[in-house]
Amino acid sequence: MEIRVHDLRSWTCDRHHVVDDQPYGGGAGMVLKPGPAFEAVDELRQGPKTKVIVLSPQGVPFSQGMAERLANEDHLILLCGRYEGFDDRIPQGLRALELSIGDYVLTGGEIPALVVLDAVTRLIPGVLGDCTSSQTDSFAAGLLEYPQYTRPPVYRGMAVPSVLLSGDHKAIARWRRKEAIRRTRQRRPDLLVRAVLSELDGELLAEVEEEETASNAAMKNEELTADD
Ligand code: SAM
Repeated sequence: MEIRVHDLRSWTCDRHHVVDDQPYGGGAGMVLKPGPAFEAVDELRQGPKTKVIVLSPQGVPFSQGMAERLANEDHLILLCGRYEGFDDRIPQGLRALELSIGDYVLTGGEIPALVVLDAVTRLIPGVLGDCTSSQTDSFAAGLLEYPQYTRPPVYRGMAVPSVLLSGDHKAIARWRRKEAIRRTRQRRPDLLVRAVLSELDGELLAEVEEEETASNAAMKNEELTADD
């Protein structure tokens, strides 16, 4: 992984190295001019192996799937906006992929670019100490990751689930898959709807649903008893 940072002002010809100008039609703020961005990309592009990305709150949402696709690219150019953003001919003319890191507006594209860089870099073989960790992380298989614990086995009265101390690898794998399904169902049901589930996953999901129905019924009973 080789990362280079460039200043758009290097592709200006005027004395003050101006990269922005007032918006046509009036209104607040300044807009990044097409010239410096096009010239920068013309110079930095390495032929067809370059993918140009424009960071923008109006772009497609950045996701783990997108990080995986970008990790397979040879060369990325990430264009970071400022002020009111880029003249719209920049993403259009450069056939850039517009990427958003979320439904909020930041001051500039530098932090979004770092988010993309970090998510992509950790997927490149050799970057993480144990490459399997990125394969079990949340979103890698369409689900949130199972809960994780470390020593001590009991802390402030809270015990680590006993199966994790059992040394039974098959039981641990089953428990982890089931808890990943439970957690995704509770916190991100939208992911669960889209996830590709195996036959075993279907059984685990049914168990989770049964357990939740039983626990809801028990809670209701407790409330009724408390009311009496
Ligand atoms: N006027 C723009 C709009 O309403 O869509 C917002 C411009 S923002 C203040 C300035 C720059 O920050 C953008 O050009 C973009 O590069 C970056 N930026 C801000 N929020 C972002 C987000 N959620 N995702 C990606 N980039 C973002």
